[in-house]
Amino acid sequence: MNVVVTGGAGFIGANLCRELASRPGVGEVLVLDDLSTGSAANLAGTGAELVEGSILDRTLLEDVVAGADAVVHLAARPSVPRSLADPFASHEVNATGTVRVLEACRRRGTHLVAASSSSVYGAVTDLPKHEDLPTRPLSPYAASKLATEAYTLAYGPAFGLPALVFRFFNVYGPLQPAGHAYAAVVPSFIDAALRGEPLTVYGDGHQTRDFTYVGTVARVLADAVERKVTCASPVNLAFGTRVSVLELAHRVAKTMESAVEIRHEEPRRGDVRDSQADDGVLRELFPGLRAVSLERGLEETVRWFRGGGGAA
Ligand code: NAD
Repeated sequence: MNVVVTGGAGFIGANLCRELASRPGVGEVLVLDDLSTGSAANLAGTGAELVEGSILDRTLLEDVVAGADAVVHLAARPSVPRSLADPFASHEVNATGTVRVLEACRRRGTHLVAASSSSVYGAVTDLPKHEDLPTRPLSPYAASKLATEAYTLAYGPAFGLPALVFRFFNVYGPLQPAGHAYAAVVPSFIDAALRGEPLTVYGDGHQTRDFTYVGTVARVLADAVERKVTCASPVNLAFGTRVSVLELAHRVAKTMESAVEIRHEEPRRGDVRDSQADDGVLRELFPGLRAVSLERGLEETVRWFRGGGGAA
């Protein structure tokens, strides 16, 4: 089968391309990416072919999707702070861009797997986050990801499109960059520790997250594609682990065998307080799934950084 990965030159996308390359049932992998946050170098050794361009380019998108048996739609303008800086840009790529991808898939009934985010739960304080909970986005990013999933799931009843939407939680691992204003917490901590600098924690550090190793995410995405998994409602892609940001700082320091020095800064607007997935639906759809532990995931990520992978 041939697979298109939008946003495939990004962190999760390039890890997925690596996973797809190891699957005998997968033939050609085409990546459509405008390289706004991704990089062609991420695809080295994956065998995936990069088409540089935007999902907002209707003609290009139609051409790319034409020969695909499945599309994994990861292209997005990520990050809460980035969306606070320019809400319309997030809307355009994450909401309008998703409708463009859906339209390209609809014409041929192409199976679509799309990325949403745990940020859609927002101000809802119940834990763990079950997919049936209401959604209350706290940022333009979260609102735009809610649009991503709502449009994708509406194309099932409206047009018979076979689709699956995952809500990713905090994904981390090799290829996730540090050293930029919108960097995620795991690469930021590792990068700071490697430089001998304090780890920056926004707020008191007792906010919690459900960290998911990217290798596990890539395996689930590839399984979903190969088995053509669909679901009428969104599916959490995380495993119910709950770690505070302060605890993460200590775990990173332990993995790196370094001392930990923490610098607190003001809490960031739009950030949720606590996050932890209910993984019941995920485990029903993907029985036998085994997640990489935080301990092992951090070891792999630190190894990648130490090998020079994270150099800015
Ligand atoms: P990323 O920034 O590394 O990947 C996004 C990719 O999309 C990049 O390669 C970027 O160049 C590309 N892109 C952006 N705009 C585009 C456009 N108009 N046309 C084509 N390509 C475009 O981020 P990621 O962490 O790999 O995120 C992948 C997906 O997962 C996104 O949809 C994101 O919202 C979602 N997600 C990620 C996390 C996480 O923890 N990393 C959590 C929740 C949801």
